[in-house]
Amino acid sequence: MIQKQNDRRFQVLIVGGGAAGISVAARLAKASPRPDVAIVEPSDKHYYQPLWTLVGGGEVRKETTERAEADLIPRGTTWIRDRVETFLPDENAVVTASGERLGYDVLVVAPGIQLNWGAVAGLEGRVGRGGICSNYSYATVDSTWEAIRGFQGGTAVFTHPATPIKCGGAPQKIMYLAADYWRRSPPREAYRIVFCIGMAKIFSVDHYARSLLKAVERYGIEVRYQQDLVAVDADARTATFRHLETGETTEQPWTLLHVTPPMSAPEFVRASPLANEAGWLDADKHTLRHPRWDNVFALGDASSLPTSKTGAAVRKQAPVAAANVLATLRGAPLTGSYDGYTSCPLVTGYGRLVMAEFDYDLALRETFPIDQSVERRSMYLVKKHLLPQLYWRGMLKGRA
Ligand SMILES: Cc1cc2nc3c(=O)[nH]c(=O)nc-3n(C[C@H](O)[C@H](O)[C@H](O)COP(=O)(O)OP(=O)(O)OC[C@H]3O[C@@H](n4cnc5c(N)ncnc54)[C@H](O)[C@@H]3O)c2cc1C
Repeated sequence: MIQKQNDRRFQVLIVGGGAAGISVAARLAKASPRPDVAIVEPSDKHYYQPLWTLVGGGEVRKETTERAEADLIPRGTTWIRDRVETFLPDENAVVTASGERLGYDVLVVAPGIQLNWGAVAGLEGRVGRGGICSNYSYATVDSTWEAIRGFQGGTAVFTHPATPIKCGGAPQKIMYLAADYWRRSPPREAYRIVFCIGMAKIFSVDHYARSLLKAVERYGIEVRYQQDLVAVDADARTATFRHLETGETTEQPWTLLHVTPPMSAPEFVRASPLANEAGWLDADKHTLRHPRWDNVFALGDASSLPTSKTGAAVRKQAPVAAANVLATLRGAPLTGSYDGYTSCPLVTGYGRLVMAEFDYDLALRETFPIDQSVERRSMYLVKKHLLPQLYWRGMLKGRA
């Protein structure tokens, strides 16, 4: 077979210039000798998504979460402003939307997760108005605060889908902020708060779940487990949920509806040979290397790594990916190993936060010498002020 000529070739090609792609590139930029690296990233903006919880809660302006992509790409790294459409791992190449064929010695794939608004009947195009809001996109995050502030009673429904999502705690963090706000500034009429979660438990780690259940009790929230949102009638203000075990559907009227949409790996990943059966980028859970192609690595939200999908997890994956990419370029054995570390700063009210940190085995991996399952103001301040600095100045610069 005659292979097609590449338009350009790089030692390392990174797909996705988000939290993971930039963090890996920043580490590779410090290596000696420094490999020739390119990032394919279509967007000219990057967002610190973890702060969207506090944007939705009226604590932070959304503009503070945005930076120009150009300012984050490490100096000396090539930015290809395009999107990858096809992977050709047998030919060590990818093809972009503009038709460019890019060759590589090592490929790092980190295009993040896809929000599937269209998977809920009647939802697409309705989020951000008429009482339907969501913290899950920059375009709609302001609508959450407007809806919370303007709520004058009735039923406030918060959803958590049955699919894997980024930041498993975020669907309920905004609910606790709303509940706390309504306690301090009560709506005119009577109200209820209903949490419909497509899981059998409120949180995977019992140590932290206990504290969340206390918050649920404090705010008088009704939790309905195994309930997956399948349809929304925006005009009639009703939502349809399907019970994951019985398949039974129920209709829930709402006055305010905060939606966390179903998510999946991006379509171009699902359709590629790099995907596992569930559509995620296949990767060894410790080395992050693809099981079939030795020169392909995956990390971040699009990967199959069986941990909770967070930026905090990416912070620990990036140095492992960078070390193993460099070892592959040298033809040396892989030394980097990721243990599944992830963290979820569980906001449970204004000035209250449970700092969850755990690994693949759901064993605690706490940073501070305190009981982190206790709701604390200090941890809230860490989330609001310290973690954004750690992200922009540490993680994205390859320093933390
Ligand atoms: C509301 C909310 C709250 C959150 N809270 C927290 C929290 O408290 N703590 C925490 O640690 N994490 C939190 N997260 C999760 C965190 O933001 C993500 O886990 C993290 O950004 C994942 O990094 P990533 O690089 O995999 O994806 P992203 O940072 O999303 O980047 C993916 C990049 O790939 C690009 N891309 C997509 N398709 C293509 C293509 N075809 N070709 C090339 N590039 C492509 C995209 O444009 C994007 O720039 C939260 C997220 C949300 C939405």
